[in-house]
Amino acid sequence: MSLCPYCKEEFTYVVSVGVVVMGHDTHNHAVSYNCPHCETSLSVTSDHHEVQRDMITAVVAAIKDGSARGAV
Ligand SMILES: [Zn+2]
Repeated sequence: MSLCPYCKEEFTYVVSVGVVVMGHDTHNHAVSYNCPHCETSLSVTSDHHEVQRDMITAVVAAIKDGSARGAV
């Protein structure tokens, strides 16, 4: 059983909301896990799907770059 530390309601799921983490000159996509009752953010973590997409895009670009140079 999980209890929200803010509204003290029990929850069995959270609501995920996409957020952006701003740095000095960077920004990263992240996910905020919010209480389904009071919508308070309980936790924020990196957006794993966004990280996967970035990695796949980088790998595909590297493969295409390598095959363009005949290195495959
Ligand atoms: Zn709550």
